[in-house]
Amino acid sequence: MTFEALNLDPNVLRAVQEAGYPAPTPIQAQAIPHALAGRDVLGIAQTGTGKTASFTLPMITRLTKGRARARMPRTLILCPTRELAAQVAENFDTYGKYVKLTKALLIGGVSFGDQDKLIDRGVDVLIATPGRLLDHFERGKLMLSGIEIMVVDEADRMLDMGFIPDIERIFKLTPFTRQTLFFSATMPPEITRLTEQFLHNPARVEVAPASSTATTVTQRVCRVKPTRKEDADREKRDVLRALLRAEGETLKNAIVFCNRKRDISVVFKSLDKAGFNVGALHGDLDQSVRTATLDGFRDGSIRVLVASDVAARGLDIPSVSHVVNFDVPIHSEDYVHRIGRTGRAGREGKALTICLPHEEKYLEKIEKLIEKSIEAVASPLAERAVEAAEAAHAPAEAKAKAGRRDAPPPRRDAPSKSGEPQGRAARKADDARQQPSRDHRRRDRDAPVVGLGDHVPAFLLREVVIRKAVKPSDDEADEAA
Ligand code: AMP
Repeated sequence: MTFEALNLDPNVLRAVQEAGYPAPTPIQAQAIPHALAGRDVLGIAQTGTGKTASFTLPMITRLTKGRARARMPRTLILCPTRELAAQVAENFDTYGKYVKLTKALLIGGVSFGDQDKLIDRGVDVLIATPGRLLDHFERGKLMLSGIEIMVVDEADRMLDMGFIPDIERIFKLTPFTRQTLFFSATMPPEITRLTEQFLHNPARVEVAPASSTATTVTQRVCRVKPTRKEDADREKRDVLRALLRAEGETLKNAIVFCNRKRDISVVFKSLDKAGFNVGALHGDLDQSVRTATLDGFRDGSIRVLVASDVAARGLDIPSVSHVVNFDVPIHSEDYVHRIGRTGRAGREGKALTICLPHEEKYLEKIEKLIEKSIEAVASPLAERAVEAAEAAHAPAEAKAKAGRRDAPPPRRDAPSKSGEPQGRAARKADDARQQPSRDHRRRDRDAPVVGLGDHVPAFLLREVVIRKAVKPSDDEADEAA
């Protein structure tokens, strides 16, 4: 199948040829003929399959006939997130560059005034998130009775985000005679019900769900057994920083995925404090911040992006060298999506997953889906803890190096007597000072020693002043060692 055989408008074809696509993807080959014929389409396909072009190309072709009227857009595309909506708008610019069409992007975080002006003039294509669209409608600035084609993109994400009642309402505000192009990666019962209610005899087109991962991606899992349940999150953050550092120069840029929004800001702060060049992306952030963050990540000024699935889904971010799952994704397909961000176009990539004991069940599901087991790597922190423990038990010379109570610890800015890089010498001393007391050692003999990871609180870096007259107790002497 070629694009020429699809009956697209010659100007659309020209733009597609310039985009350099060799042939239609399976979803395009299947959906475009039905969409051009005016039939409703139910497309079951995920991001990365070329589904955006499978609805934009026939839409532009159909829109070349007819004209937009003031406040009455001719077509409507609903997207779950602002980023996805902005990306669909970019697709329209690319494929519609030789066709005179007007479009408006209605997303939150952007002033109503500019959007109102565009709508007033009349638009061919309205690309919107459900909430913002309804806001405009309720302000009486917009009529949906002229909609000829309506697209619902990523319907299952809409469901996850609680947008289904809004979608139902929007369907009811548009004419019954509209054509509907409906896309979803999965078909949970609520989505099936929606399609049964609002689609008329749709052509069902389906491409296999993403279950395979690129062979160029090295996948590893790092299991973390927290010493105490309440320390689990902190230890995970320690491991994350250590993993990122351990990658050294090979880490060009990375996306760190978190399952929960609130973890994103905590992980962001922890990486920022540790000196990483970091940005955060989640649904609650202001639109201008989200755009600036994405731009920063694309141009390399942000090296590590901490993100949620919802914010990162569908985004066309150029290949990254590393993907880190701070949490094991609960839905196995999300794992495939996440790690699909790296190892693109035959390049090497690495995907690291941090796994707590309670997340093993999700990991098992992932391994089943991708039909391979993910090789385990030891926690870099565990290695450091062993080194530190050995240093603490080593004979006098090593102990002296690690710092004593009666000798102030080396300051970070002081030259190192051992000739080691300053930071390392200071950190060794810090590690030694973080060794538990004798009583603790007895109690936690078998527990992994994790210390405070790379984070050294400022108070630990202060010089310790010991009054000469006070003779240290046995315990204190032991602790100092
Ligand atoms: P989508 O699934 O719509 O998010 O598309 C994913 C990526 O595939 C985008 O970067 C598109 O530019 C690209 N793409 C779309 N159609 C084709 C095609 N026929 N051949 C090659 N790449 C394509």
